[in-house]
Amino acid sequence: MAIIGGGITGLTAAFRLKQRGIPAVLFEAADRVGGVIQTVREGGYLAECGPNTILETSPLIGELIEALGLGDRRIDTSESAGNRYIVRDKRPVKLPDSPLGFLASPLFSCRAKARLLAEPFIRRAPADAEESLAQFVRRRVGREFLEYAINPFVAGVYAGAPETLSVREAFPKLHAVEQRYGSLILGQLLGARERKRSGSVSKQNAPKFSFDHGLETLTTALGQRLKEQIRTGQAIGRLTRHNNTWSLGQAGEYSAVLLALPAFRLAELQLTHEAKPIRLSMLADIRYAPVASVVLGFRREDVAHPLDGFGALNPEVEQLNSLGTIFSSSLFPGRAPLGQVLLTSYIGGLRAPHLVTKNPDEICELVMEDLRIVLGVNGEPTSRHVFVHRRAIPQYDVGFGRFKAFMNELEQKVSGLYFAGHCRDGISLTDSIVSGHKAAERIAEDRKQTD
Ligand SMILES: Cc1cc2nc3c(=O)[nH]c(=O)nc-3n(C[C@H](O)[C@H](O)[C@H](O)COP(=O)(O)OP(=O)(O)OC[C@H]3O[C@@H](n4cnc5c(N)ncnc54)[C@H](O)[C@@H]3O)c2cc1C
Repeated sequence: MAIIGGGITGLTAAFRLKQRGIPAVLFEAADRVGGVIQTVREGGYLAECGPNTILETSPLIGELIEALGLGDRRIDTSESAGNRYIVRDKRPVKLPDSPLGFLASPLFSCRAKARLLAEPFIRRAPADAEESLAQFVRRRVGREFLEYAINPFVAGVYAGAPETLSVREAFPKLHAVEQRYGSLILGQLLGARERKRSGSVSKQNAPKFSFDHGLETLTTALGQRLKEQIRTGQAIGRLTRHNNTWSLGQAGEYSAVLLALPAFRLAELQLTHEAKPIRLSMLADIRYAPVASVVLGFRREDVAHPLDGFGALNPEVEQLNSLGTIFSSSLFPGRAPLGQVLLTSYIGGLRAPHLVTKNPDEICELVMEDLRIVLGVNGEPTSRHVFVHRRAIPQYDVGFGRFKAFMNELEQKVSGLYFAGHCRDGISLTDSIVSGHKAAERIAEDRKQTD
């Protein structure tokens, strides 16, 4: 068995297969495993190059952490992380967390609040209609919610645009709530009751966490457990299936392969099945949003804002340079030296893709302009890291279902070929871990049947 791609998806799949007694060789193009998860510790600061937190919406996450013996290294976000800010009129305003708080909040106008009361009476869309997130939100709750709640949220999660994301593909639970209850408000109330009964957790209430040494703790632990099975510095380009065997050229022959790669890398693979080429080039049409993570340290006294929350998101209508900022040193201990704070800002996305092509000094200055206005930063950074991801997050746009169907169909048709990862099963770390786990289950199941 071979696994191509040593990000969190491929690592999880390899580890789960190992637990089931199925040996797999994992090929990774880079000289390290972990993919976009990378933590830099320098001068008492801890900077995340890619993702910052894991949202624990699946029990499989806790199981993986326990199996790796990382339970005592996990750190949940601080209590204040429950506060989230949205910028309105260039000032951070706390996102209300209760119906009463919502009524009193200056984040939404009286008109927008009144519009919400009509939501339960709006008809559900036909089950087979595929709407963009913007169409869905405008239809159900109005334009102001789109601008001041959904637009910044989507920038924070997808670095994407509500006008192009598919509500069914990118936010399947939201789509399902409308279909099931006919209303998001009713769904919220009745869903809470059902969750209580079944013991499941909503995204809002799910724990968010990292580790004492950052998220790389997880991929390093997986890498250590799989040491002998990992081949770094080996980019796989050609895979040929013949007589029930996959040949990876000099990398050897295997009964099955799991592809755990970004879509733009899948599209480049040369796959042959019984002398016939299998073209994956259509996967190059999956759009990726570019993002630069700008991680800056400051003296505490140089930041006026109390930083008592998860972070602040910038709606597009506010016309700021960046997408938002995470208050990293407020979330977890040990992210900055005593008397200092650490902020992680994101810039680019589909909103302003050209910004990530600027040089690090220019990118940094654009972020600083926003931090001065929004958080009252009035000093120079004491630490600085700029990480550019030219193709960061895949966009589950309207029509995305065709890509998923294509990969599912190939998995069905071509024996010993499996797909997993962020371009098929969801974009979050939890989605990737679950995707790797489920791919290992499918592989184990198929092996049982052929034995
Ligand atoms: C800036 C940023 C911030 C994010 N923030 C969060 C967050 O806070 N929380 C969250 O839940 N999610 C977040 N995400 C999303 C999450 O990090 C990803 O969805 C997840 O890490 C994807 O893992 P993966 O293994 O599927 O892909 P990747 O991490 O991309 O791994 C794929 C691997 O395949 C390797 N590879 C490529 N081509 C080949 C080849 N031909 N042969 C062999 N190997 C190859 C690559 O080198 C790479 O290591 C963020 C993503 C980014 C980019």
